[in-house]
Amino acid sequence: MLMCRDLAEIASDYIDGELNGRQNLSVKMHLMMCKDCRTFIGNLRASSNLLSAHSSGKADEEFLRRIDERVAEALNARKIRGSDSE
Ligand SMILES: [Zn+2]
Repeated sequence: MLMCRDLAEIASDYIDGELNGRQNLSVKMHLMMCKDCRTFIGNLRASSNLLSAHSSGKADEEFLRRIDERVAEALNARKIRGSDSE
């Protein structure tokens, strides 16, 4: 039976589709039973998609700029809210 720590070790291979059939199956069975690892794999897959989007080409700069804007907006909103409450 695959343990959480075993899954963590092979998680990126699982996402990249580099596991053999048996390993792949045991990961899937573990994920069916283990909510923590489902969350973990979900996060890993999201960040892996983000990374491949970044490395895949010219949408990068626009994409990164938008993220920067979102972060700046969020920080500003927090700052304003913070000073209002004082
Ligand atoms: Zn687990």
